[in-house]
Amino acid sequence: MKEDLQLSQATMSVKNAFLPGEEQLDIQSLFSSTPDATPVVEGIYAHVPFCAHRCHYCDFFTVAGREDEHQAFVKRILEEMGSFPKEAVGSSIDAIFVGGGTPTILSSELLARFLGGLQAHFLGVDTEFTVEANPETISPEIAGTLAMNGVNRVSLGAQSFQPVLLERLQRKHDPDNVARSLEHLREAGVERISLDLIFGIPGQQLAQWQADLEMAISLNPGHLSCYGLIYEPGTPLRGRLDRGEILAVPEEDEVSMYQWTISRLAEAGYEQYEISNWAKPGEICRHNLLYWHNRNWWAFGPSASGHVDGLRWRNLPRLGRYLAGQGLSTVFDMERLEEDGRIGERFMMGLRCISGLAREEVDGMLSGEGGGRRRPIMERHLADGLLHWSKEDRLCLSQRGLLLANLVVADLLAPGPEHGTDS
Ligand code: SF4
Repeated sequence: MKEDLQLSQATMSVKNAFLPGEEQLDIQSLFSSTPDATPVVEGIYAHVPFCAHRCHYCDFFTVAGREDEHQAFVKRILEEMGSFPKEAVGSSIDAIFVGGGTPTILSSELLARFLGGLQAHFLGVDTEFTVEANPETISPEIAGTLAMNGVNRVSLGAQSFQPVLLERLQRKHDPDNVARSLEHLREAGVERISLDLIFGIPGQQLAQWQADLEMAISLNPGHLSCYGLIYEPGTPLRGRLDRGEILAVPEEDEVSMYQWTISRLAEAGYEQYEISNWAKPGEICRHNLLYWHNRNWWAFGPSASGHVDGLRWRNLPRLGRYLAGQGLSTVFDMERLEEDGRIGERFMMGLRCISGLAREEVDGMLSGEGGGRRRPIMERHLADGLLHWSKEDRLCLSQRGLLLANLVVADLLAPGPEHGTDS
């Protein structure tokens, strides 16, 4: 279960050196490579890599401090946006997501310039415009800056409402600031709020998780993301675990927390639409759906990941190199998935979503290259009850399958023998 509940956009903090596989994305050839039509970008992800402090569980690409670089960063990312060809955007952008890091650590003036750039280049009348925020950073002024620059959704990292658990994560915020932030945001006119929570924190009891979830529900956000804690390699928290200084919550306790989350949030009127995400009616995160439906989105800023028509990449995670560069980011980790990989990914993304995959799509995938060998895997998991066909005739994870999603997805994702290594 753990890997399935992990945070997305995981990146590594690395030193400022050249990496093998760096390249410049040839955007013109990318957009002329499709014979019938220019691939249309429907989403934008922009990464702001600054945080006040590095939380011990975090493996995102962030740098603590470096306030002296904020201005240069905003100038550079605005220039990067200006280098993006407007013809690559369709009739409108469905979702803009500003993640980090802590985007709201920027001063109100810099934040306004940065968001104003995104607004001018990409915001349409119906675009979902989300900014991630840390509760410590939402003052009335910052809330006003977000609202005035078109932001209509804020994703707030609450994680827990209990100081002792936040301390265990080395997460530096006062839990009372979550409610205060929501007040400021709502007063400024930002109505759509998502809260992020983490369960399975070392030493956490089921009752503590229940209290956290009750507190979150009482704040009435439209959207909740509840992730099981992941001990990512290279993080200080993983180091403490490996040295035996902390103990992971027993798997059965984490399962109880997850099961309780599912039933309590359903009772509170939240629909689970993905393994770790719940929304009230009309509040599903469109940015999330872009990822899971494998649509096209562009990435700005160091370490941001993009995808256009099967080509995926990640921008170079080097702040110094980014600031010294020009035009679009240098990229690395670029890959174009072949048919087999695309099918595996589609199973993974589709099954993460509670609505699953339509039978016609499943049949289409299973009849293509790399599909046939997956049929017995699917049949086995249908027989063992981890998968089922819903009454809408869609292939879905069962309630038990949700707990073992990692196992099911790994089976379906594994490349065929022709793609394996010859060890
Ligand atoms: S505030 Fe968020 S991005 Fe920054 S270090 Fe903590 S978890 Fe990572």
